[in-house]
Formats: sequence, structure tokens, C-alpha cells
Amino acid sequence: MDHSGRTAFCIPILAYHLVTDRPDLGFARVSKAQFRRQMQWLADAGFHSIRVRDLLGGASNPSERWMILTFDDAYSCIEDAAEVMQQYGFVGTCFVISNFMGKANTWDYRFGIRNWKHADTALLRHLLQAGWEIGSHTANHSYLPSLDDHALKYELIESKRALQREFQTQVDSISYPFGRTNQRVCKLAHSAGYRIGVSLGLAPKISDACGIMALPRIGVYSFEPLSVFAMKLNRFYRQTHWILAYQRIISFFSNGTIIWKKLGSYGREKNQKTVLFNQ
Ligand SMILES: [Zn+2]
Repeated sequence: MDHSGRTAFCIPILAYHLVTDRPDLGFARVSKAQFRRQMQWLADAGFHSIRVRDLLGGASNPSERWMILTFDDAYSCIEDAAEVMQQYGFVGTCFVISNFMGKANTWDYRFGIRNWKHADTALLRHLLQAGWEIGSHTANHSYLPSLDDHALKYELIESKRALQREFQTQVDSISYPFGRTNQRVCKLAHSAGYRIGVSLGLAPKISDACGIMALPRIGVYSFEPLSVFAMKLNRFYRQTHWILAYQRIISFFSNGTIIWKKLGSYGREKNQKTVLFNQ
């Protein structure tokens, strides 16, 4: 693979958040029935799953239809998704917020509705044993581009350290909270030891500049029927830029209300940008 990650662009990376029948404020949720239909479609279309870090091994064989299933935030409902995936022989990559394992999503401002629980270490260990990859989604789900270098290094280094210690596994990949990153963040992530990163809804210019440290993903949303899911996967190969443009529009609306809140979870009072509908 060349350093720009161009080879990886050939392999669609899907971005999921919540897979549950419980309603949520945002779009970033699919029902269990929706998810099952999507997995069935992928299997019928001949897709095989690989993990994000498998891209580092030059996992590119034109005769195979490969795709990657990623799950940001690692909510406890990932257990249901994993169960369905297992039936199709799929594995995934879940991106864990290291300071929130087993806890409620209090990092997410939702007008007082904070009712999603993150997967605990036992569940994450179970996923690892099933062949999944654990990647970092930072320590506190901070909006990284707004952090100074000191705070940014903490989010990147502490998360990798904590996950590697807890699970005794190498953490090579990172998913940037809210899908957002820039060249400074990517450079520091690389210095912190990450070897590959994924983004969501980034401007192609930034994505191109960051190369393999900010590979674009295809977001999957509650309002999309299976035909749209299929179209996105099919068009990915022919019109990557079309997908990126669509993703940017959805991501804009999905991010919806950007608010400001105080977050002192690493002991520093700091104004920080956060997003209502988590990604
Ligand atoms: Zn997230």
C-alpha cells in the first residue's frame, strides 16, 4: 500500500454507531432488522470482512470483494450487532473511548438524555476473542482539532496506553471523534504510535492530505432504506468522490447543533466544541 492510502480507498469502510431498536435523537442509529438486512445484502453480494488494521498488511486482492465494518463509541448494544455478524462470518473493528468503558455516555450532551451505556471490558474482551479489532476513539471523546498539543497528546497517548494495557493487544488504529481531524491531529496521532486512522465527512482535501491516517468511511444512517445502502456500496468503486460529497452533506446535518460545553475530564477546564448527535 502506498502511504496515501489509495489502495485502501478501494475497500469500503462502513461506519456504524448504535445498532438498536431503542429510539435515539440522532440519525446515527440503525435498527436490528435494518442491520440484519444490510449484513445479508453484503453476504449475498459476496463481500468478506477485514479489520481496519488488516489494511496495513497490504490486504488488497482485486478478486475479493472486501469491506470493513467499524463501530464508533463501542456501545453495549454492539453485542447484538456482533451476534448477527457472526452468523455471516463477519468481524469488525470497534473504536473504544478508553475512559468510558462500562460507563454511561456522559461525554455526550443530549439535553439531559444520557442513556446509552458503553461496552464494558468483559464484552470487549469477548469481541477480541471472536476476532475483532479494538481501536481507539480517544480517552474522552474530545473534539480533537480544538485541543492544544498537550491535551491532544493526552487523548491520543492515554487512550492507546489504557487499551493496550487492559486488553494486552496492539492498538494500531484510531477513529477521530465526530469523524473530524486535520493534518496536525493526524501527525500527532502518528507520533503517538497509531498506524492508521479513519474519519467521517471530512473535506476530500483534508482526507487526501492525511492519507492513511484519515481514511474516509461510509456512514450508515437510520433513514436510509436498503436500496440506498446498496447504492452506496456499489457506487463506491466507481464514484468515490460522489460518496464523499454525499457523506459530507449527511454528516453536516447529522452533526446538527454544535454547542459549546465545559469539559474538565482530564483536569483542565477548557472550552470545547462538542456535537449534539454523536459520531
Ligand atoms: Zn464517537
